[in-house]
Amino acid sequence: MVKTRAIIDEYDTYVPGRSKKEIMEKYGVSPEDIIKLGSNENPWGASPKAKQAIIDAIDEINRYPESNHEYLKEKIAEYANVKPEQVIVTGDGADELFDVLAKTLIDPGDEFITHPPTYTYYEYTFKVYGAKPVYAKWDLESNTLDVDSVLENITDKTKAIFLCTPNNPTGGLISQDDIIRIIEATDALVVVDEAYWEFAEVNNINLLDKYDNVLIIRTFSKILGLAGLRIGYGLSNPELLEKMSRIKPVFSVTVPSQKAVIATLDDEDYINNYIKKSIDEREYLYESVSNIDNLHIYPSKSNYLLVDLHDSGFTAAQLADELMKRGVIVRDCTSFRDLDEYYMRISIETHPKNEKFIEILDEIVNG
Ligand SMILES: *Cc1c(COP(=O)(O)O)cnc(C)c1O
Repeated sequence: MVKTRAIIDEYDTYVPGRSKKEIMEKYGVSPEDIIKLGSNENPWGASPKAKQAIIDAIDEINRYPESNHEYLKEKIAEYANVKPEQVIVTGDGADELFDVLAKTLIDPGDEFITHPPTYTYYEYTFKVYGAKPVYAKWDLESNTLDVDSVLENITDKTKAIFLCTPNNPTGGLISQDDIIRIIEATDALVVVDEAYWEFAEVNNINLLDKYDNVLIIRTFSKILGLAGLRIGYGLSNPELLEKMSRIKPVFSVTVPSQKAVIATLDDEDYINNYIKKSIDEREYLYESVSNIDNLHIYPSKSNYLLVDLHDSGFTAAQLADELMKRGVIVRDCTSFRDLDEYYMRISIETHPKNEKFIEILDEIVNG
């Protein structure tokens, strides 16, 4: 057998939300009846302009993409309200950015701080480079970060501190005052993950001009409707981005991706319309689940909501299974550190499907 690094033996393959294919094959549900609430996607589809741009890109796919993509950065800078030199774009979504970041920052033995329950991909990428996770606390009751638990854990070895706002999977925000307390307490890089900022209608861009140890993470996978194309971006100080660019995969942002992003950003009506619709559906789900006996739902500033199942008699795995038989995909949160087996995360679908989901859910839980 080929000899691989010892750390690889500690890894299991990453488990994403369930796919449509899995349900179709296992339960014979037809694809148009599937209600997909597991992966926080835009359920209405990409902008029609983006779809056309991908079709138009067909004649260029025999050529390598632009590796420096100046125009793409200009468009993103305009959307994010920063300067083009403050933008870095990655081609396996924002997830690629975490990998590039780890390669840039980590020597074996360094530490990084996260606040479970939160996005697990930070750990997944950083650990492989020999970094040690240090866990701060997310306070579930108030649904916000316990800032002191971060401050107490900063050491000389801390290289990155991940702050997810809105937090996935809980939906709560971290206030800017709290973020500033952390930035000012360290020289480590504070990574502010704003994958869902559009739904919260607040962001932390203003910090970039004042602090050089901040990196803001964004993605085209959520409201912007391009999860399948895999594009993310980061916003930070140009010196750090220049260093990251030296070791970033050179051609990972493909020709169709670049064109689709530019077209999406030119389609402001699409973006604004779907932000509004998403927020409406989130509030609809919040109200509706609140009215179902034996379930507790957390208020959310994102496009997903955390549901507490303790009083329902179901574990998340059991409920997810019952739902799946009826064509509904949710996210069982058991694999999130610091959540027990009684939490699930639901994201939004189109309105008729959300209504159907509520009916199915009530029926299963309260018979
Ligand atoms: C979805 C998500 C991302 C990035 O997703 P990509 O599809 O890789 O761009 C980053 N952070 C959080 C918290 C997410 O939920």
